[in-house]
Amino acid sequence: MKRNGLILWLTGLSGAGKTTIAQRLENKLQEQAYLVELLDGDAIRQNLSQGLSFTKEDRDINVRRIGYVANLLSRNGVIVIVSLISPYRAVRDELRYSTKNFFEIYVNTPIEVCEARDVKGLYAKARNGYIKSFTGIDDPYEEPLNPHITCDTTKETVDESVTKILHWLEGMNQLSGLVIPINSRENLNFSSLKI
Ligand code: ADP
Repeated sequence: MKRNGLILWLTGLSGAGKTTIAQRLENKLQEQAYLVELLDGDAIRQNLSQGLSFTKEDRDINVRRIGYVANLLSRNGVIVIVSLISPYRAVRDELRYSTKNFFEIYVNTPIEVCEARDVKGLYAKARNGYIKSFTGIDDPYEEPLNPHITCDTTKETVDESVTKILHWLEGMNQLSGLVIPINSRENLNFSSLKI
């Protein structure tokens, strides 16, 4: 088995479609018996990054924490999907260029579309001033200059974006060696592990 997994880092505005694409991608990979873990920005802020604010400093800390966990998992062969706005280019690049098998996926949806979707009602609150430092409204989003993959959700369906990502990974030979055959999994004796 290939030792290193992958880190598939989805960046983009709130409402761009990161979580939707990430969840569908996770399902597709699991169906094919890959080991997958999804690290979702909203969920991480409820636990690992509870208490962090949305200043640049805290957002960068959040990205580095998630990058650290993603690294731990991926070095054990897991495909880690990260769904996180991660608005600052420098810290994304820091991870990208210091991490093996890190792939940046830009979920590129214009702010007008994200705002029209307003899935969580956050844009309305940001426009009304109830939420400060909201990415794209009164906080910056620095788009990737050279992402490995771009998903344009105004032109692609969720399935098309997921297929595009999978084809790209297959084309780059990134998926081979990552599946643990079912037989081997059955032979794993977890009870002997001291956790
Ligand atoms: P994010 O995680 O980037 O904040 P979400 O995935 O939570 O965004 O929300 C994106 C919304 O946009 C969802 O309601 C999703 O159904 C919708 N949507 C419409 N078209 C697409 C598409 N082509 N790709 C992804 N999401 C889409």
